[in-house]
Amino acid sequence: MSTCINCNKKDANINFQVYTWNGLGKSNVDFVCCSEECKKEVEEFSEYVNKNAVKFLILILSGAFSFVPFLFLGVFIKNNIFGIMSMSCPLIIIGITVIKYPFSTPETNSFFGIRKTIKLTRIIGIIFIVISILIPIIIYLIGY
Ligand SMILES: [Zn+2]
Repeated sequence: MSTCINCNKKDANINFQVYTWNGLGKSNVDFVCCSEECKKEVEEFSEYVNKNAVKFLILILSGAFSFVPFLFLGVFIKNNIFGIMSMSCPLIIIGITVIKYPFSTPETNSFFGIRKTIKLTRIIGIIFIVISILIPIIIYLIGY
């Protein structure tokens, strides 16, 4: 008995293939769904992934490295703001990116189902943004 790739329900029996991102490249991926509705959701989401995967990777990488300019500025200009920005900026960029493009690994998708993985990924994005806002508040409160 198979599990639906979208909603994680048991006894899924609609087999189909979608040409989509699978790890680092695109290939035909076999999926099993419980209903035509879930199949349609998977196809639409895969299309969204195909269209935006490169944009997603560029945004995640620029987000991850966005601390670098602030770190340099912080070395030359002694001001706490650059230290705060070097921590908050990556979190904001990555947070917004994963809310807009809630893409995860194929393993996570098959473990939770695509529908739940999208929700979880967006919640992580929201947590990142909340932390990025809390960092300057905490630093201000401890008077650093
Ligand atoms: Zn389903």
